[in-house]
Amino acid sequence: MNLSLLMMPVMITGFLTEGFLPLACMMLVFLLYISGIGIRSNKEYKRSFEIEIELQAQRRELETLSQTDALTSIYNRGYFNQYFENLWHHATRHKIEIALLIIDVDHFKSVNDTYGHLGGDACLVHLAHAINKPINRATDIAVRYGGEEFAVLLSGCNPQQSKKMADAIMQSIQQHKFIYQDGEIPITVSIGIATLVPRPNQKSNELIEQADSALYRAKAAGRNRALLFSPDD
Ligand code: GH3
Ligand code: MG
Ligand code: MG
Repeated sequence: MNLSLLMMPVMITGFLTEGFLPLACMMLVFLLYISGIGIRSNKEYKRSFEIEIELQAQRRELETLSQTDALTSIYNRGYFNQYFENLWHHATRHKIEIALLIIDVDHFKSVNDTYGHLGGDACLVHLAHAINKPINRATDIAVRYGGEEFAVLLSGCNPQQSKKMADAIMQSIQQHKFIYQDGEIPITVSIGIATLVPRPNQKSNELIEQADSALYRAKAAGRNRALLFSPDD
C-alpha cells in the first residue's frame, strides 16, 4: 500500500509525459503484481491466525479432558499427582501446613452386588458432587483417587480445621440423596486425615501413608467416621 502511494506520482507523471508511457505501464503492471501478492499473503496470515486459535482451543479441551475423571467429571489421579507435587514444594518453601483427606466408600462391593455396577457408578457420580460441595477455597481440590476412593487436598489447614472440613464432607454426604432408579441407595464413607508442614528432603508419600493409616483405623473402628492420623497408628 505504502509502495503504491510512493509510486503513484511517478507513474501518473509517466503517463502524462511523452516518451515515458512504456515505463509507466511497466510500473502499473509491477504495482498490480505486488498488490496481488499482498492480498494473498494477508489472506494466508488471517487463515493461519484462525488455525492457531482453533488449535489453542483444542489444546485447552484436551488438557481439561486429561485432568478430568471420565465418570465423575471431577479431577483425576493424574491431576492430583501433579497438583500435590507442586503444593508440596510450595508448602516446603513457605512452611505452610497442608492436609490430605482420603475418603473411601464403606462396603461398596455390596452396593455393586445389590444395585449392579451401573448403580455403583451412579453413586460415585453423586459422591463426587457431595464431596465437592463444601470445598470453596480456590487452592483446595477434590479428586477421584481411584476406584471408590476420593482425596481432598487442603492448604493452610491445621488438624482441627481439616477435621472440620472432613465433618462438613460427611454431613454433605449424609444429606445427599443417592437416588438410583426411583430408589435411594444408603451410602456412608470413612475418611483418613493427615496434616503436616513439609520439611526439606521429606518425601510427599509420607502424608499419603499417614492419611491411609488413619483411614485404616476409621474402617477398623466401625466405618462411617473421619479420623485424624496419630503417631500411634
Ligand atoms: P470397605 O468398607 O472395606 O472399603 O469395603 P468395600 O467393599 O468398599 O471395599 P473393597 O475394596 O472390598 O471393594 C471396593 C469395590 O469398589 C470393589 C470394586 O468393584 C468397586 N469399584 C471400584 N471402582 C468402581 C467403579 O468405577 N464403579 C463401580 N461400580 N464399582 C467400582
Ligand atoms: Mg477402597
Ligand atoms: Mg471401600
